[in-house]
Amino acid sequence: MPKHATLEQRISWHLAHQENCGCRPMPQKLQMELNKRNAKAEAHE
Ligand SMILES: [Zn+2]
Repeated sequence: MPKHATLEQRISWHLAHQENCGCRPMPQKLQMELNKRNAKAEAHE
């Protein structure tokens, strides 16, 4: 992961990582950010 990763990069990094490995869960803060995005995406439908 880049040192100064954007939130976007961090989220996608953790998503990819979770699929390949369960060594560390996504931090709650990132998880919340992801949930917010999912909620927004649903609202657009
Ligand atoms: Zn891992």
